[in-house]
Amino acid sequence: MRIDAVDVLVFELGLAPVEGALGVFDRRPLVVVRVMTADGDGWGECGALERAAGGDPAASTVEHLLETVGIPRMVSVAQARDGTLDSSAVPQLFGGHAAERMMAATLEMALLDAELRALGVSLGEWLGVARPEVAVGALAGIPTDREVDSLLASVGAAADAGSRRVRVKIAPGWDLVPLRAVRRHFPDLALQADANGAYRLGPKTGPMERPDDARRLVALDDLALTCIEQPLPAADLAAHVELRELIETPIALDESLASPRHVELALRYGACEVACLKPARLGGLRAARRAHDLCASAGVAAFVGGYFEAGLARGANAALAGLPGFTLPGDLSAPASYLSVDPFGYPPVVDGLVALRTEPGVGPAPDPERLAACTVRTRRFEAR
Ligand code: MG
Repeated sequence: MRIDAVDVLVFELGLAPVEGALGVFDRRPLVVVRVMTADGDGWGECGALERAAGGDPAASTVEHLLETVGIPRMVSVAQARDGTLDSSAVPQLFGGHAAERMMAATLEMALLDAELRALGVSLGEWLGVARPEVAVGALAGIPTDREVDSLLASVGAAADAGSRRVRVKIAPGWDLVPLRAVRRHFPDLALQADANGAYRLGPKTGPMERPDDARRLVALDDLALTCIEQPLPAADLAAHVELRELIETPIALDESLASPRHVELALRYGACEVACLKPARLGGLRAARRAHDLCASAGVAAFVGGYFEAGLARGANAALAGLPGFTLPGDLSAPASYLSVDPFGYPPVVDGLVALRTEPGVGPAPDPERLAACTVRTRRFEAR
């Protein structure tokens, strides 16, 4: 595509508070890129949240990197090639730092959106997805009042809405009792626990070390959880391998799976039985498809994880979740259920399923009125 100009837009959205082991998130600054090409516009949504957590960068970091490195580099490389750049070339422009991968994912999405619109092809078609709809999973955070009844109410609401599974956030001190209560009230629910790396395994080596609390997770074995996600710190694959021998509940990795290379290593070491794959963190839709393929050939179940996206990126994640290796429901609930405004829109979730978009492009362009209402700043980069 011949790039004429690139806009960086920042939206300020309200987020229904979600608490996990990484703290509370209750606002959603959203960085969005619009690429203007000779053949039309393309939109890309950045996954980064309000602040850095679990190895992921803050939205402000990616915004700064886009403006100082990403867009200038993309535009200058395009100019060196008659002004044109293909979305497949974007990931190679940047290094392997977490913020660079998230930036690459945003720029790849914007250019790919423009390309698919020009070709008249939907993202699902481009990915080769055959399913018309995918299963939606929900998330239940740690209740602010730390009351089991509050958790049961939010799990019940998700189950009533037809969610095909519920992922419950846990942390040391909020694990066995609430999960046991959920299992007692919802005996047939597909239930996962997500610890965001909050537990520790291994001997105490010094006064600053956290207690060896991961062994207690063996108590979850009789709750028939689909998996416990990221029990230990992201960088410690060896400890996950060790924990797999101590507990029967399958271990899922999320924060550890920072790039396709990280996925490859985790699979080689046998560190997980389930993979939570997030295109924004992995470096984009192509990187996510590569990670999916690695998991599928290793026989490791996978699901698409989320960052409280607006409808553009969440719709893209839904299309991705149509790939055959994504055998578990993804974080694909409607953005309207957690964001104050969704500038892009999302298909209705019916009986725990969401239909994949068939319109050309990665997703819908934003609604101009909603866009004007939530945009707090815009910066334009002309390609000349
Ligand atoms: Mg997680």
